[in-house]
Amino acid sequence: MASEIQHFTIPVFIPMQGCPHACLFCDQRKITSGNEAPDDIGIIKRIEKHLETIPRHNSKIEIGFFGGSFTGLTIERQKHYLNLVQPWLKSGIISGMRLSTRPDYINDEILQILKDFGVNTIELGAQSLDDEVLQLAGRRHTSEQVRQAAALIKRSGFSLGLQMMLGLPGDTFQKSINTAKDIISSGADCTRIYPTLVVRNTDLETIYNKGEYQPLTLGDAVEWCSSIMPLFEEAKVKILRIGLHPGEGMIHGNDIIAGPFHVAFGELVHTALWKDILLKISEDLSAAITVFVNPRQLNSAIGHKGSNKKLLQQRFRDIKFKVDKNLVGREFYVDYR
Ligand code: SF4
Repeated sequence: MASEIQHFTIPVFIPMQGCPHACLFCDQRKITSGNEAPDDIGIIKRIEKHLETIPRHNSKIEIGFFGGSFTGLTIERQKHYLNLVQPWLKSGIISGMRLSTRPDYINDEILQILKDFGVNTIELGAQSLDDEVLQLAGRRHTSEQVRQAAALIKRSGFSLGLQMMLGLPGDTFQKSINTAKDIISSGADCTRIYPTLVVRNTDLETIYNKGEYQPLTLGDAVEWCSSIMPLFEEAKVKILRIGLHPGEGMIHGNDIIAGPFHVAFGELVHTALWKDILLKISEDLSAAITVFVNPRQLNSAIGHKGSNKKLLQQRFRDIKFKVDKNLVGREFYVDYR
């Protein structure tokens, strides 16, 4: 059997110094030093360093321009960065590029340039598809602009990513579910789900300090995510990321003032999904059971710090987990011993 192709994205962070927007949750426009755009040598070295660690066999490697609104840069600057990575593209070492940007920085001219340079995936920071949430977050674009940009990207033959945030001011559980559904119906191929964090030097920090904003609790964020994830899974929208990873992008641990941050946030969500499933096995204190799951699901089924296993230990005489590679996704079966 042919082994599965592994996907790698080499991230290149291009901060938006002096961004003209004022999104409530973002510290980019206040950056004056310390997060300058990397110089060409820095970018090249970073890519080379990553490439040294990536196996070439059965790998699909992309370069991702993240960190701001790539298509908000001047056309010359965009071309400059895209040109920088052409040697790797032409030699076939990388298969393409992806980038993140704002929905209102998308038009036919920009898309044509991106296509000519070999970009294949465009991720839009949609954040929410609720107009009130967008307005309160200071996004200065509407949900309709997200839908239109998404349609243009799809029509132009790109793979589309739509990122969403949970728990922005004015957001509710139902609005976040609606946003996920809207992302699906907009034709997204992939998504990232970020619970809102209060980051230092943002307007969100100001209103948080005034008591005018309450972030989601960690428990709520896990619950919202575990309700949203199955929607994306069912629609075959690939979830590239749930929650911010420590040191990811330009936000560092000590910049996070409040909010549902956890170093293993994704693991908590997967644990919660399995918890709901495993609790459906009827309790029988006299039974010893073995739960069979897909090998990739084993850690999630056992749960973060073994929490699901511990829960089942209270409901059964004995509990074991084993793998069965014929199972798909969160399928499972139980053997009574
Ligand atoms: S989220 Fe993007 S558009 Fe908004 S302020 Fe930050 S860099 Fe600018």
